[in-house]
Parts: sequence; C-alpha cells; structure tokens
Amino acid sequence: MIRAAVLPAVGAPLEITGIELPEPGPGRVRVRLAAAGVCHSDLSLSNGTMRVPVPAVLGHEGAGTVVAVGEGVAHVAPGDGVVLNWAPSCGSCHPCSLGEVWLCVNALNGAADVHARAADGRELHPGLNVAAFAEETVVAAHCVLPAPEGVPLTDAALLGCAVLTGWGAVHHAARVRAGETVAVFGVGGVGLATLQAARIAGASAIVAVDVSPEKEELARAAGATDYVVASEGTAREIRKLTGGHGVDVAVECAGRAVAIRTAWESTRRGGRTTVVGIGGKDQQVSFNALELFHWGRTLSGCVYGNSDPAADLPVIAAHIRDGRFDLGALVTERITLEGIPGAFEAMLAGRGGRALVVF
Ligand SMILES: [Zn+2]
Ligand SMILES: [Zn+2]
Repeated sequence: MIRAAVLPAVGAPLEITGIELPEPGPGRVRVRLAAAGVCHSDLSLSNGTMRVPVPAVLGHEGAGTVVAVGEGVAHVAPGDGVVLNWAPSCGSCHPCSLGEVWLCVNALNGAADVHARAADGRELHPGLNVAAFAEETVVAAHCVLPAPEGVPLTDAALLGCAVLTGWGAVHHAARVRAGETVAVFGVGGVGLATLQAARIAGASAIVAVDVSPEKEELARAAGATDYVVASEGTAREIRKLTGGHGVDVAVECAGRAVAIRTAWESTRRGGRTTVVGIGGKDQQVSFNALELFHWGRTLSGCVYGNSDPAADLPVIAAHIRDGRFDLGALVTERITLEGIPGAFEAMLAGRGGRALVVF
C-alpha cells in the first residue's frame, strides 16, 4: 500500500488514502515520487471544468526515482531520476507528423486505464496519465523523461507542467524577441515561470498583472519590471508604462474572459496575445469586427506551451544550472498530500504561486 490523493467523484473532496499499485508490465515504469506540484488543472479536474474518468489519482507535475521497469523499457533504469510528462506524444498522429507534438491526439489515451486499486477495491484511473499525487506511480515509459543533471529532483517536479508551459508560451507560442515588451496576466506557478522565461528572452519591460496586490514581490523576483493590480484601468495603465503603445506581447495565464480581453487590449497595434490559461465554456470573450481590423492584433491559444518536452528540458536545465532560471522562486509552499485541499483553496482565493507536495 502506498498513500495517494484520490478524486472519488467530480466535485467531491479529495481523499488521502492507501492504494495498491500493480507491478510495471511491459513498457511501463514504476517511479517513487520526490515531489509533485499542485497545478490549477488539478483543481479544474476536481471541480469538473476539465474532465477525466474518475475515481482518479490526480497530480500531473512530478519527478522522482525509477524503482522498477517492465519488459522492453530501455531509456531509463532503476535508480534513475525522471521527470513525469503528462502529455506524451505518439509520434504518428496527424499533429505529431507535423511536428506539433503538444497537440498529439493520443496524449491522454491512458486516462481511461485502470491505474491502481483503492483499499476498498475501487478501480482508480490515472488522472492526466501520471497520477503524481502519490508516493509512487506506475506510468507508460514515454511518460518519463530522464531528469536533467544538476537539478534537485524535488525542484525538477515543476519542469513537468508549469515550467514547460511558461517557457514554451514565451519561446514557442509568442516567440518573444530580445527588446520586446511583455505583459503576463496571472501570477501563479505558470505565470511565474512565464515571467522568468520572458526575462531570459531579453524582454525590455515585463509587466506582471494579478488581482492580488500581495504577489508583487514574487513577481518582481521572477523578472517583472512593473506590477499592476488588475482593475478596469489595467490596459490603460500598461499602455502608459510602454510609451502609450501597449506591449508587444501579452501572455494570459488565468483562463478568464476578462483577463483575455484585457490582455488583448494591452498589446500595441499588431501585438500578440497568447492564452495559456485553461478556462471554462462559460468564459466568453467578444470582439467587434472593426476593432479586429483596426488593431491588427493576433490572439492565439497555446497547449502545454507548444513545447516538445524532450527537446526543451535540456535547454531549460542549462538555464537552471547557470542560475538564470530559479525553480525555487516558483514555490510558495511545501506541503504533504494532506495539504492539497488547502492549496486548492489558496488558488481559488488567488493566493500564492506553486504549492509543492514533497514526499
Ligand atoms: Zn498543470
Ligand atoms: Zn500523436
């Protein structure tokens, strides 16, 4: 028996309970978790904004040590440090064949598998493939990537979602160039990673926007040169900070209609807005035809930072080792499995950056 955080049903509170994991069969890997980050998507799964088969072991941002491998697994061995990848690509579907591995149509095929059994015999699914809110997990081999050298495994957990997403939003989706100005809406785990990525990209001004005035210090430590508490006047304020023009790039990390609209309004004529946040169907954003013409702006969605984890992790790891990317600056709280419901509450209240479950 190992301990895990189980979502028994959509809308129900998490249960911290014992589960029984199977031995890793062919092509599968058993991992002892070092740490797992609490992502907004875990909250979205628990309240039904996003759906996976339940009951499920949540958690999709983790790193740990391989304890056993099944037949045919060659790229990792027991004792190796690994980062979990919740969105593995199949390599053969239409998006994969175009090189857009983040859009792989088969990425979440594993979500319906039976992952483990609860003490009472219930069959449990693996949430977003990797079931990281547990002392140990068993995952498909393509869901583990060798952990980068020189990065502590507890910190490396964050690479698997927040960091890849924020990094990719800046470097792949928005393609921020040195000297450009950037605004980041929402200062949670992904927002903080986005700020750091914008700093590394050489952005000349980085405006962080959040509904809470309490995240200013966090945001500035991650690279923000200005901090704006979200209000009706946010777009005007950002234009004032950028010579009246607006920023070249806005990255929206909250998945909220008002933030998406404000992000778009905060960019200059011809500016680009990338939406990273995952919102619900109730979040309707509207534009009139004349303003779309007049402003000549671009608005685009973004999945997992449009990143290819296998290619991006080594690049990000080099920035970490050289002190340019600070994983520790993302973590605002270190908790146990029992702390996850409290971390959800903090997210709903708009507090904090990333809570990290340390095993
Ligand atoms: Zn996530
Ligand atoms: Zn694919």
